[in-house]
Amino acid sequence: MQVVRFIEQHTHLQDAWFAPSWGILEGDRVYPLAQAPYVGVEVSGAARALDDVKLVAPATPSKLVCVGRNYAEHAAELGNEVPPEPLIFLKPPSTVIGPDAPVIYPAISQRVDHEGELALMIGVRCRNVTEEDAARVIYGYTVANDVTARDLQKADGQWTRGKGFDTFAPVGPWIDTEFDPANKAVRCLVNDQVRQDGNTALLIYSIGRVLAHVTRFMTLEPGDLVLTGTPAGVGAVQPGDVMTVEVEGLGKLRNPVIDEDEARRRGLLP
Ligand code: MG
Repeated sequence: MQVVRFIEQHTHLQDAWFAPSWGILEGDRVYPLAQAPYVGVEVSGAARALDDVKLVAPATPSKLVCVGRNYAEHAAELGNEVPPEPLIFLKPPSTVIGPDAPVIYPAISQRVDHEGELALMIGVRCRNVTEEDAARVIYGYTVANDVTARDLQKADGQWTRGKGFDTFAPVGPWIDTEFDPANKAVRCLVNDQVRQDGNTALLIYSIGRVLAHVTRFMTLEPGDLVLTGTPAGVGAVQPGDVMTVEVEGLGKLRNPVIDEDEARRRGLLP
């Protein structure tokens, strides 16, 4: 099952949008849901044509839990050792954007990088999950881009600012509840040129190991996202570029990069 969130344009008022709804995507139809799918799958209302709606981020997480340096070649390319246990950081929910939404390049950074990643969504509230039991708490999988202001990440030591700008967590276009994450290509393209081409088989810490590690110190809530780390090949983007993250068998997530002036023109920044 592919779960989406969508808004629909009112046919009479060009700029009036309804609040986002959850939905199930089947072919070119979207079936609206009454509530978040991990609460209960209850179709509510008539199916919409996919062409008549706009997909937004299929996630309203209380937090985004991210793994750093979870591919050896990526750790090495930034001059870092492989961590002795999973290295965890957070991105705030305000970073989340959906497919095709613009990433805003901060004026106070001179180096913004793409980081294509496989992400998973939690389906049940959980704490102290064992590695063997981890699959039970996963609702599904999606594609993510852990956009990073590399200069600010390095300058601060703490990663909150470098990882935490608004729009720095594109996710989508859907949550796939049947996806098998084993041995899948994870790629990131910039302007259709391949920059990252990794595989989940190269993850240092498995998804089960990561969930066991995280839930030893933190309760995960339904809808929370876990970003599993980025493979080698991270690099800079510029305003005007388009980033596309692809996870084999899961989907493609495309996001353009704009500068702050353009964001202000579009009403995306005060
Ligand atoms: Mg990352």
